[in-house]
Amino acid sequence: MEIKFIESQNKKEKPFDKPLGFGKFFSDHMFLMDYNPELGWHDPRIVPFQNISLSPAAMVFHYGQEMFEGLKAYRTPDGNVQLFRPQKNIERLNRTNERLCIPQMDPDDVLEAIKAVVKVDSDWVPYEKDTSLYIRPFIIATDPFLGVKPASNYIFCIILSPVGAYYPEGMNPVKIFVETEYVRAVKGGIGFAKAGGNYAASLRAQKKAHELGYTQVLWLDGVYRKYIDEVGTMNVFFVIGDEVVTPMLEGSILPGVTRDSVINLLKARGYTVNERRVSVDELFEAHKEGRLKEAFGSGTAAVISPIGLLDRDGEKIVINGGEIGEISQMLYDQLTDIQWGRAEDEFNWIVKID
Ligand SMILES: *Cc1c(COP(=O)(O)O)cnc(C)c1O
Repeated sequence: MEIKFIESQNKKEKPFDKPLGFGKFFSDHMFLMDYNPELGWHDPRIVPFQNISLSPAAMVFHYGQEMFEGLKAYRTPDGNVQLFRPQKNIERLNRTNERLCIPQMDPDDVLEAIKAVVKVDSDWVPYEKDTSLYIRPFIIATDPFLGVKPASNYIFCIILSPVGAYYPEGMNPVKIFVETEYVRAVKGGIGFAKAGGNYAASLRAQKKAHELGYTQVLWLDGVYRKYIDEVGTMNVFFVIGDEVVTPMLEGSILPGVTRDSVINLLKARGYTVNERRVSVDELFEAHKEGRLKEAFGSGTAAVISPIGLLDRDGEKIVINGGEIGEISQMLYDQLTDIQWGRAEDEFNWIVKID
């Protein structure tokens, strides 16, 4: 793929002396590529970070035909930059596209695009411990047309945002509200796709949980309101007795790259990991019997997020005394060591930016 490059003549001051937070600052460049039925995906280019101009009738504004991905570039101890399992994000991108009637992309082209734009802005990968450059590829439908059908024209874009440590004061277990009124997704819907629409559907419950003093919601399945799906924007794991369990992928759960990495790492370390249905009743029962040892979320942003408390309709359970569990801590340490290049890449998960 021949990528055109228009260099920014107006480079920004890097915000590295400020708290970076998440998704607040953007690098100097972005990647763009267009789709139309005649040319397919075409005109790959890296241009200065800038606004996108669209017709107010652009289909994305009305019917939400949009998808996104999220991964990170990490600064290694020797100053190089690397990616973590980007091929998994690209496979998922095409599965999301398939569900949303967005044209498939060549996985090699997408990887080349990610590597090229990260390389151009590699100075934007921060150096401080646990910081990284968040990579946000996304696709929007651009046809100026008011009618419900798959669009014919799309923009694929990649933007980059330097982000701070997720746990500036150290990892802290969070309080989670078990959501029994609203649901995020149902089987047959788009829960397995990384689409903005899923997030729009989740905001009301998240707002309610925040108002009640909880960090996130625990989503239950949309049919029985019984089986656990996910936690907020993360996949979820429980240590019950000697078993590590995570809800199986049945169509309503987002198949996280971190989830897959956690499963692989645990199996390699000799743990029993099962992907199966877990009901909220089973969880509260296991807690009563003293067998619920740990609970944690997994996702690119936080890596591992220990859960210290669950509230279901006012019934509260404290997990592991509200402390970080042994397995949660081990996973956090080992995954972040691989991602930031402090440990050997024993699973072949790293792609270097050269
Ligand atoms: C992105 C996302 C996750 C986590 O996926 P990772 O690939 O591990 O970052 C989990 N749940 C939802 C709803 C998501 O959008």
